[in-house]
Amino acid sequence: MPENNHVSPSEHPPRKSWDTYFMDIAYMVSTRSQCLRRHVGAVLVQGKKLLGTAYNGAPMGMPDCSEAGCMLVEEFEVKLADGEEVVVKKQRCIRTIHAEQNLLLFTDRDDREGSTVYVTDQPCWTCANMLANSGVVEIVYHRPYPKDQEKVSTMMATKGIIFRTLSDYEPPAGSLTKVTN
Ligand SMILES: [Zn+2]
Ligand SMILES: [Zn+2]
Repeated sequence: MPENNHVSPSEHPPRKSWDTYFMDIAYMVSTRSQCLRRHVGAVLVQGKKLLGTAYNGAPMGMPDCSEAGCMLVEEFEVKLADGEEVVVKKQRCIRTIHAEQNLLLFTDRDDREGSTVYVTDQPCWTCANMLANSGVVEIVYHRPYPKDQEKVSTMMATKGIIFRTLSDYEPPAGSLTKVTN
């Protein structure tokens, strides 16, 4: 009797949602990043069409973090710990153009009108500010970035931009590269 290789409909895994589909792509894009501290990917989606992809990286023709090392600056952040305000020193790499900014540099204004951006990480204040002025009407992110959370959420609400995260989302295997934090 010939072997039956067909997968019955009940055994077939459930179809990926569009959210998962586009966030998976953003994570795959982030693997191109050469920053030693952070790998971020972003994609532009109009309707169900992919119109652009970008990751954080140095300007073309300039050495990237893997060649020249991260370009670190120190910042002081005020945090609440047990109701007390404490000042913590943090380092941040400024060699790269952020994924969201590269996405804006490499897409057309017309394509962005009414579009959605999927980005692996919650945008920082500067990126959020630029996205808010870019024609994008929805931003979907995965990993939180608590530092700018409050002011970014407030601005998105004021601008009427849908700003949401994906709960119960798992990045695709192999897309999380080890980075120092
Ligand atoms: Zn870097
Ligand atoms: Zn940013």
